[in-house]
Amino acid sequence: MEKEREGQLPFLDVMVLRKTDLRLGHKVYRKPTHTDRYLHKNSNHHPWQKRGIIKTLVDRANRNCEAQFLNTELDHLNWALQANGYSKNEITRAIKPRKQHRTEEEKQPPTNKVFLPYIKGVTDRMGKLLEKHNLQTVFKPTTKIQQMLRSAKDRRDPLTTAGVYRIPCSCGQVYIGTTKRSIHTRIKEHERHCRLKQPENSAVAEHAIKQTGHEILFHNTEILDNTSNHYVRLHREAIEIHKHQQNFNQKEECLKLNKTWLPALKNTECKRSTNSTQPQGQGITAHKRPVNETHQPQGKIISHPYQNNTSTTKHINQPSPD
Ligand SMILES: [Zn+2]
Repeated sequence: MEKEREGQLPFLDVMVLRKTDLRLGHKVYRKPTHTDRYLHKNSNHHPWQKRGIIKTLVDRANRNCEAQFLNTELDHLNWALQANGYSKNEITRAIKPRKQHRTEEEKQPPTNKVFLPYIKGVTDRMGKLLEKHNLQTVFKPTTKIQQMLRSAKDRRDPLTTAGVYRIPCSCGQVYIGTTKRSIHTRIKEHERHCRLKQPENSAVAEHAIKQTGHEILFHNTEILDNTSNHYVRLHREAIEIHKHQQNFNQKEECLKLNKTWLPALKNTECKRSTNSTQPQGQGITAHKRPVNETHQPQGKIISHPYQNNTSTTKHINQPSPD
């Protein structure tokens, strides 16, 4: 909790001051670590967005500052904006209220919105044309370098996250499951149900008990997706079950795949079968992936941390796209 220091108490972007006559004053508050970096003049954004930033900062100064602090704040903004490449003229123009060519009553609300990437000299002209047809254009910034670069953080162990996984059996059938907890925990549960012979708790245990002589290959478990989103997981599970007709999932537990998916899935399966050069994975016959395919989420065969024979099972097909 923030505490008063030297008669000053920050609250959001307002600094509340205790005056000598015991009245309260107020002005704009910036954290001590604030760098005064705003969208640079040369940045590839529509001029409206740049103008909007200047106007927002000035509006905030007018709203949060008492008369005695206003000039200092405006001087600071002037300096900070010039440091970000804006000229004095541009700052003055942005602050000045714009002339309305049409009154509010004459103005018609736009019939629809159009989202375009901002490309100077191309999409801004398109925006003007669309405006004539009463369409509002929203300019989105193009991809930034930060979005192209990998995250500097270490990747999490896929076993410790939620997701969709596939456990093969020695007979060639598979079990496809999903969990919102860690996949590691869920696989351990399946193993325990198998060991304690509890078919009512796990379809994997049911298969292992009913089909004598079958061995569940827990050490060849594949992680198909690492996502915690509930609906994404359910849909991914349903798609994987549809793709692997040889499965021993209990159908009533899974999401029923909407028929609209089927043509798209059939199409990807056809492409896959024509492109694929070699089968991926161990002990799984119904699922083949082309080696160079990057747009599809990739499965990984993971080493099982609680099996002794895992040293040779680390077999990651492709790095995960996330
Ligand atoms: Zn089996």
